[in-house]
Amino acid sequence: MLLYETPRTQVAKAALTLFETGLVVNTSGNVSTKVEEHVVITPSGRPYNEMEPRDIVVLDLEGNIIDGDLLSSSETPLHLAIYAAYPQTTAIVHTHSIHATAVSTLLSELPAIHYQIADLGGPVPVAPYRTLGTSALADIVTKTLRNRNAALMQNHGAVTIGNTIEQALTRCITLEWLSEVFLQSHQNGKPSIIDNNELENVRRRQQDLIEARQKYLNKRND
Ligand SMILES: [Zn+2]
Repeated sequence: MLLYETPRTQVAKAALTLFETGLVVNTSGNVSTKVEEHVVITPSGRPYNEMEPRDIVVLDLEGNIIDGDLLSSSETPLHLAIYAAYPQTTAIVHTHSIHATAVSTLLSELPAIHYQIADLGGPVPVAPYRTLGTSALADIVTKTLRNRNAALMQNHGAVTIGNTIEQALTRCITLEWLSEVFLQSHQNGKPSIIDNNELENVRRRQQDLIEARQKYLNKRND
């Protein structure tokens, strides 16, 4: 029996989803989840389409390898710093997806060009460039994520966080889509922007919809 078999399987599955949706190429990008006092994370230098649960590495919160045959992701310091700073976060996805990376070279913040940005916590800030895999990069990206569920990393890529792997993955796909919408709009003129008051209305409306869905399901299951 593999230690943390279920989260390792979920992380390997998320890695495959990233590969299949074209959000990662070769061995770029990484996925992790926090389980109790451990972090379950994709390995370094292993192609996503070949990844299996036993390839996923188990670390303690200081980054020591607890179980696994491979070295953990080169961005392990980034994952550990985010978990340390935001205890409610239990999943992280990092990619070099094309449109998000393109936006990271152009802006200091991706503006609210579509209401779906509300799920990312509002306009998405771009963390200034630092060398990959360093604690300097981990620090600046962690700070940039304050009050946000997503950040862009200048000349590097994107990172999203969530309470589940599924949520972090969905936000990663949303961020890539928003980035593509921004680039398309920007190419054709000056995009209009949704203001903060309206984003708050969107948040409330989305919460109402979640509650209405839950109420309906509960009623059906009675
Ligand atoms: Zn990276």
